[in-house]
Amino acid sequence: MRELKTNSMLFLAAVVLLTASCAKSSSAPEAPASQENTEEITSYLASQGFDQKQIVFEDDRVIVEKDIILTRAELQQRIADWKTATTEQRRHNYIVSNSYNSNITIYIDPAVPTAWRTAIQGAVNNWNAVPSSRLGMSIVSSQSAAHCRVFMGFQSANWIARAYLPASNGRPGVSVEINSNYNSLPASQKLFAITHEFGHTIGFHHTNQTSGIHIAGTPTSDPNSVMNSFVLNWNGFTSADVLATQILYPN
Ligand SMILES: [Zn+2]
Repeated sequence: MRELKTNSMLFLAAVVLLTASCAKSSSAPEAPASQENTEEITSYLASQGFDQKQIVFEDDRVIVEKDIILTRAELQQRIADWKTATTEQRRHNYIVSNSYNSNITIYIDPAVPTAWRTAIQGAVNNWNAVPSSRLGMSIVSSQSAAHCRVFMGFQSANWIARAYLPASNGRPGVSVEINSNYNSLPASQKLFAITHEFGHTIGFHHTNQTSGIHIAGTPTSDPNSVMNSFVLNWNGFTSADVLATQILYPN
């Protein structure tokens, strides 16, 4: 998203927003507080449908679409509500077809550090442990045999990792990119982040944003879902995460 900021084609930006999603850190110690705040406000406004290219930051206020003024204090309140209020299981229009969903193969690039490999294996184990679901994943040693590739990237930004959603042909999202800016993240948050990214590769959208489609039959409040876009310590799937997985990928 951010690297396409200067592109004049709004449409292209929208497509990337739908195909690449990310687990975000809500506290980046490396970043100055104002910068972090700016990114969070940008994420919030984008989720509300405002064009990111038309957000102007001034001292104590933010101007959107040239003439709408929002105070930073008001925005902070809205963001706090946004993070917790509407949290429900949401899916992409495409999910992984039965040709692939019982054994999604994952290749880990050699440059991925050990601590992230541990998180990747843990995330595979998490998804495989969902009961009464045909969903299955495994790590393979050959890239050519893999549906999804996990690799390292770097950006001085507040995304920890990002992934592709499933394609229209029923294949899982093709890659997960990990931001080496977050190599020092605690192990529990690494595990949450990678479990979250694999969630995108099998078709889950964020529970705290409005893209995607509500998964009928799942509750409309699920603040601790693995698909919340803000990273948490891994504490297991919520019951709604499990239910949503069973609905998308029944036995
Ligand atoms: Zn995400």
